[in-house]
Amino acid sequence: MSFQSFKENHDAHIIQNYARQPAAFVKGEGCKLWDMDGKEYIDFASGIGVLSVGHSHPVWVEAVTEQAGKLTHVCNLFYTEPGAKLAKKLCEISGLSAVFFANSGAESNEGLIKLARKYSKDKYGEGRSTIITLNGSFHGRTMATLTATAQAHFHKHFDPFMPGFRYVPPNDFDALANQGDDVCAVLLEPIQGEGGVIPLDTEYVKQVAKLCEERDWLLMIDEVQTGIGRLGYWFGFQELGVQPDAISFAKGVGGGIPLGGFIVSEKLRDVLGHGTHGTTYGGNPLCAAAGLATIEILESVLPQVAKKGEYMRTRIKEMNLPKVLEVRGKGLMIGIKIDGIPPAEINGKLLQAGLVGLTAGADALRFLPPLVISTEDIDAGLAIFEKVMKTL
Ligand code: PLP
Repeated sequence: MSFQSFKENHDAHIIQNYARQPAAFVKGEGCKLWDMDGKEYIDFASGIGVLSVGHSHPVWVEAVTEQAGKLTHVCNLFYTEPGAKLAKKLCEISGLSAVFFANSGAESNEGLIKLARKYSKDKYGEGRSTIITLNGSFHGRTMATLTATAQAHFHKHFDPFMPGFRYVPPNDFDALANQGDDVCAVLLEPIQGEGGVIPLDTEYVKQVAKLCEERDWLLMIDEVQTGIGRLGYWFGFQELGVQPDAISFAKGVGGGIPLGGFIVSEKLRDVLGHGTHGTTYGGNPLCAAAGLATIEILESVLPQVAKKGEYMRTRIKEMNLPKVLEVRGKGLMIGIKIDGIPPAEINGKLLQAGLVGLTAGADALRFLPPLVISTEDIDAGLAIFEKVMKTL
């Protein structure tokens, strides 16, 4: 079948809300993908930061297959072991105290929003329910997380929005400090991913953490894109040297199986009592087995992530590409600010040439390769990137 016929059949019964690129993938292995015509690609996208251990990692496949043959799901009205083991592991690597499992990044952030409101209401009563987020942020597509997302173009079509959210400019401490006493929490990403791969200033985040402590505002960190090793630390807040009250995670933790959630500090572990929050699939044995295998694989990979990311950023800078204005990010979260050409157009050319990349914000390309990527695959992907960029 030709790609065109495949696309027509595909699109016949699927809502057309995604601007899909013209590639139908049928196989993935490590950091490589193959499309329906057998063409090979280097994967610098990892399904938007999901395939942290690459495609079909044998240890991950074995763990998921074994669990699928034993027990996949019973729902959270019962006890199962893989979720308990994964929660323990997540607490160990984050230094936090207790986990709630969800399915996606947006759902994880929804949980944080509910947590902050309930914490504040239990302790201070009504009138203290506002959550502050930063301009340029991205927290998800559900109504509450879309409201939390401070980017106007995501809001188009969907008003009215939810009350109880306000936005401040990133790295502007006074703007945050001037917020009133209706605030219960601050929610921020260590690096704004969808916003363009824009890291927050470390000093600013430290000041925010201190202010939150003084005012008993919860410091909530959205680690959906930055977490689970992406920046060379298990979580972005560890690189920033702050202590959050709660963090959300998703994407890279399941290694391809939908898994997310949030982790809270000791002071918050009893806020959500019986019946206050829940989700049918959250942390089921299959997802938890995938999460455990992912973290187990990443334990030996994590020490190399920062070095690999630095290597990629340095190599890109050394190419001296006239259309590249800036190379930014940390670890294997790489943003490339482009001069004068829509990043989606370049990304299309990269795909044609055999490199799967991403865009971020209005003017940047974004690379989120699997954390297990080898130097050989990095070099192969960057060679395609350089060749395409030199034709522009
Ligand atoms: N938060 C951040 C920082 C994200 O980057 C994303 C997705 O890109 C989300 C939340 C939403 O995650 P999901 O698409 O799994 O709902």
